[in-house]
Amino acid sequence: MKHLLTIAGSDCSGGAGIQADLKTFSALGNYGMSVITAITAQNTLGVDAVVEIDKAMVKAQIDAIFKDITVDAVKVGMVSNSEIIQQITSSLLEWKPPVIVIDPVMVSKSGHHLLQPEAKNALIKNLLPIATIVTPNIPEAEVILDRKITTIEAMERAAMDIYRLGPKSVLVKGGHLSGDAVDVFFDGVVITKLSSPRIQKKNTHGTGCTLSSAIASYLASEEDIILAISKAKEYVTKAIDCGLEIGKGVGPLHHFH
Ligand code: PLP
Repeated sequence: MKHLLTIAGSDCSGGAGIQADLKTFSALGNYGMSVITAITAQNTLGVDAVVEIDKAMVKAQIDAIFKDITVDAVKVGMVSNSEIIQQITSSLLEWKPPVIVIDPVMVSKSGHHLLQPEAKNALIKNLLPIATIVTPNIPEAEVILDRKITTIEAMERAAMDIYRLGPKSVLVKGGHLSGDAVDVFFDGVVITKLSSPRIQKKNTHGTGCTLSSAIASYLASEEDIILAISKAKEYVTKAIDCGLEIGKGVGPLHHFH
């Protein structure tokens, strides 16, 4: 059993954020821990309110965990603002976990900003360079690079350009293009395309959170990063396929044990 940590925002309705991450860690047989960066009041219809946690409290949570418990992999999700980003970066540089998965969460499916737009540069400058892997979807890759991405070739160029910002590897997720869900992975040497059949399902709340947590889970015990991503994609595909009809909007994924 590996020890996994998510540093992210809370979703009280249990579909995304910290709650999706902890469910994923458990479903994959690991022990989950959480550092909360923001509390959101949200449900399957959207985000009603956000309270950001003070950076000193973010530091205190990270320190409390690392000074006591071995951490095999960290996933970073919603980070809200520049101060929290700088704190997380310096804490992770101090504690040096072996795996850091950065999910550059920016805007929810329902259109709510989960990263203050002015914090984009802090995310690029501070967090991306310490990532083992960064997992933007197409809209996030577009914000990072400040250009449109409409084809798989453009995704490949995006993966290579984001790699130049400092992470050890990049996974650009293609779910927002039409056709099969093709993700593009670049590790500085070769481009690998990972395809999975598109499943048209309504209940997909928390898909991005779940994928990055599953990647962190598999990377904690699997050294082959492409195999870890493939297994994580398989887990997410199954969890979307069995998404739950809970609430009046976009329901959550089903986390199997
Ligand atoms: N809420 C939190 C706290 C999140 O971290 C995220 C995504 O990472 C979301 C909401 C958005 O989830 P979705 O866009 O899948 O609805």
